[in-house]
Amino acid sequence: MSALLEIQNITKRFGGLTAVDDLSFDVAEGEVLALLGPNGSGKTTMMNIISGALKPTEGRITLAGEQITGLPPHRVAAKGVARTFQLVKILPSLDVRENVIAALAFRRDALWGQEAQDEADRLLVNAGLSARGGEMVENLTYIDQKRVELARALASQPRLLLLDEWLAGLNPTELRVGIDLIAGLRDAGMTILLVEHVMEAVRALCNRCVVMNVGSKIADGDTDAVLNDPGVVRAYLGT
Ligand code: ADP
Repeated sequence: MSALLEIQNITKRFGGLTAVDDLSFDVAEGEVLALLGPNGSGKTTMMNIISGALKPTEGRITLAGEQITGLPPHRVAAKGVARTFQLVKILPSLDVRENVIAALAFRRDALWGQEAQDEADRLLVNAGLSARGGEMVENLTYIDQKRVELARALASQPRLLLLDEWLAGLNPTELRVGIDLIAGLRDAGMTILLVEHVMEAVRALCNRCVVMNVGSKIADGDTDAVLNDPGVVRAYLGT
């Protein structure tokens, strides 16, 4: 597998605080990689740098060999990076279908009219929302709102999907559904980088994990090996 996303020597300082410290890793095409670490280790900062919400102090990011370092979020999105947020960012005054259609207008080859309708239907089926198209988003269950969020991210036909604690706050039944949904994307070949605290999900979904602690990478490798690494266990337990 070749690298789709390459993170090279990224450092981010906020004044005197180094939130990300010379971090390098890559995400291979078709890989599902977890970015892990205790609170405050720099994961969100790193996701913000990849999506363009923050500019790094130093370092380079390339997507399929093309520099995306420091580009604004809409340009990074146009290059094929889609992101979901921990807070469900949907348009509450629109119904489910309209939310997905609105997202289709942001595609590089923006879809309109019948084409948009057909594509929205396909995305709703894939997200398990075909029976919910006419409902107001605010009336949906939490897992269904998450499905809308995912369908909207996939509307842009991303090459790389960034999931920021997408499974947080789900109950155990919903969690199984959520894991299955992401597993479906993985099996269809989607490249995914996720920040996730639910270890059951990390074990079920990710071939590889990168672990950060105080801004630095402390482990990078096969999921089982990384999660059993004494240094990683220590970082999480803070001993
Ligand atoms: P994580 O996502 O792993 O919990 P964060 O990336 O949110 O970690 O934070 C890493 C460090 O950077 C923390 O010490 C946090 O307080 C600090 N930090 C994050 N964002 C900012 C900011 N905008 N300004 C100053 N410090 C920040």
